[in-house]
Amino acid sequence: MEQYKGKSIFNGIAIGRIKYYEKNQQVVKRVKVEEPQEEIKRYEEAKEKAIKALNNLYEKALVDVGEANAMIFEIHAMMLEDDDYNDSIYNIIKNDCVNAEFAVATTGDNFSRMFAEMEDEYFKARAADVKDISERVINALSGYDMGNGVIDEPIIIVAEDLAPSETVQMDKSKLLGFVTRLGSANSHTAILARTMNIPALIGVDIERKWHGKMAIIDGKKGILYVDPSMDILEKYLEKKKREEDGKKLLQNLKGLPDETLDGKKIKLYANIGSVADVTNVLANDGAGIGLFRSEFLYLEKSEYPTEEEQFQVYKTVVQNMAGKKVVIRTLDIGADKQVDYFNIEKEENPAMGYRAIRICLDRVDIFKTQLRAIYRASAFGQVAIMFPMIISVDEIVKIKGICEEIKKELREGEIAFGEVELGVMIETPAAVMISDQLAKEVDFFSIGTNDLTQYTLAIDRQNAKLDNIYDPHHPAVLRMIQMVIDSGHRENIWVGICGELGADTGLTEQFIKMGIDELSVSPSFILPLRDIIRKTKVFS
Ligand code: PEP
Ligand code: MG
Repeated sequence: MEQYKGKSIFNGIAIGRIKYYEKNQQVVKRVKVEEPQEEIKRYEEAKEKAIKALNNLYEKALVDVGEANAMIFEIHAMMLEDDDYNDSIYNIIKNDCVNAEFAVATTGDNFSRMFAEMEDEYFKARAADVKDISERVINALSGYDMGNGVIDEPIIIVAEDLAPSETVQMDKSKLLGFVTRLGSANSHTAILARTMNIPALIGVDIERKWHGKMAIIDGKKGILYVDPSMDILEKYLEKKKREEDGKKLLQNLKGLPDETLDGKKIKLYANIGSVADVTNVLANDGAGIGLFRSEFLYLEKSEYPTEEEQFQVYKTVVQNMAGKKVVIRTLDIGADKQVDYFNIEKEENPAMGYRAIRICLDRVDIFKTQLRAIYRASAFGQVAIMFPMIISVDEIVKIKGICEEIKKELREGEIAFGEVELGVMIETPAAVMISDQLAKEVDFFSIGTNDLTQYTLAIDRQNAKLDNIYDPHHPAVLRMIQMVIDSGHRENIWVGICGELGADTGLTEQFIKMGIDELSVSPSFILPLRDIIRKTKVFS
C-alpha cells in the first residue's frame, strides 16, 4: 500500500480502480507489421467498441440534454461506418504493412484536411468530427478508451491536469473521483467536481504505473491510498457507509422551509453546469437554481451551439425545475475556460483579459443568439438572467438595450416569452464600488466571491502556488459583501451569493445576519445549509 498527500477540493470518500488519463496522448508511431490482417481485425474491434460507446453516449445525452444535442454522437457513429473512411484505413494497413493506429491517424488527418479546405461551412465543420472519431478509435486501440467522456466502469481518474472542457465531457455516472498533479482549488475544474459531488484531490505526485490499481480518496484528510491494505479498505468502506448514513439523516430536512428560528426566509438555490445536474438539485430539494453556468454548453461542443440547441437545454432545465426560479448566467468564457472555436488570441493575463461580458458585448451576434434562446425558454417557467464580470453602468445599459431588441423581435415573430428578471454578478471591486448605481438598473445582485476574491486580493485563482493566501474570508471581501447587500437593499432588490463562499457553513449565520437573501451552492451543500439556517436566530 502507498499513501500520498494532496489538497482536497471536495471532502467525500471514493473507492475504486484507477484509470490513468493522458490528454492528447495519441503520439501515434508508425510500426511495421508482419500480419496486416491481424491489424484489420484489431481496427474492426476498436471501431465496434467506439460505435458502442457512441451509441451509449447518444442514449445518455438524449435524456440529459435532448435530441438536438445528442445527435452529434449518432452522426459520429455513422461516420465510423463510412466506406471511404474505412477503405482508406484498410488500404494503408494492407499496402504499407503498418499498425492500425497509424492507418487511423493518417486517414483522420487526410480527411480532416480535405473537409477543412471545402467551401461549404457544413462540410468545413466536419473536419473536427473526423479528427474526433479517429482519436476515439485510436484510444480504443491503445486501451485508453475514456477519451471524450467514454468510461466503461466506475473509476477514479488520475491525470496531470484536467481542463474544465475535459471534466464536463466525462460520464459523471461512472466517475468516482479524480486526482491530479496540477490545478488549483479555485479553478473551474474544482468547482465542477463539487457541483458533481465528486471527491477530488490536487497536488498529488501521480504516477502512470497506478493505472488499473485499486485506490481510496479521502477527501476530508486529503489522502490518496494506492493499493490499500485490507485493513484500510475495510475501514474506509465503513467510513463511506457512515458518510452515506449521515446524508440519509439530512434527507429528513427535505420539504422543510429555509427559515431561521425567528422567521427570516433565505432562498437556498443551487449552482449547476448542465441539464444532468438538475437531478442532483431536485434530489437535494433546492428551491431554485441560482447559477446556471451556461458556458459549459459551449465547452462541450466543437462549434457554436445554435439558438435551437441552447433553447432545448434551457427549456429542459426550466421545465424540470417545474416553476422554481432558474437564474441563467450568460456566457462566461475566457480565463481558464477556453473554447477553441472562438479563436481567442493567447493572452499574457487571461484572468484580466478578454472574457465573459467583454466578449459578448464585442461579438453581439453570439450574445443575441444566447439571449433569444433564454427568452424563449422563459415561456416555460420562472427565468432570470445574470451577467458576469460587470464593471460599469454603461455595460448594463447596453445589455438592457440588447434585451429590449430581443423582446421586440420575439414579439414581432409572435414567439412566446415570460417575465425575466435581470441581474448583475458582483465579482469585480469596480462593481462593488458602484453597486449603489447598478442597483438602480437591475432586479437583483449575485455576488461571485470566487472572482471577487481573486480581483480584490490580486491573486490569480488558477495559481496553485497562491492557494494558501487566496482567502475569501479576508475582511476586505467580507466588507465588500456587506456593502453590496446594503446597496441592493436601499433599492429594494434581492442580493445573493453564488460563489463557493456561499457554501461555507462557518459563515452561514454571519451572512444571514448581514442580510443576505439568497445562497446558491453546489447541490450537495443545500441540506447541510438548511440545517444551519433552521438553527440560526437573527435577532439574539
Ligand atoms: C464567481 O466568480 O464567484 C462565480 C460564481 O463565477 P465563476 O466561479 O464561474 O467564475
Ligand atoms: Mg466568476
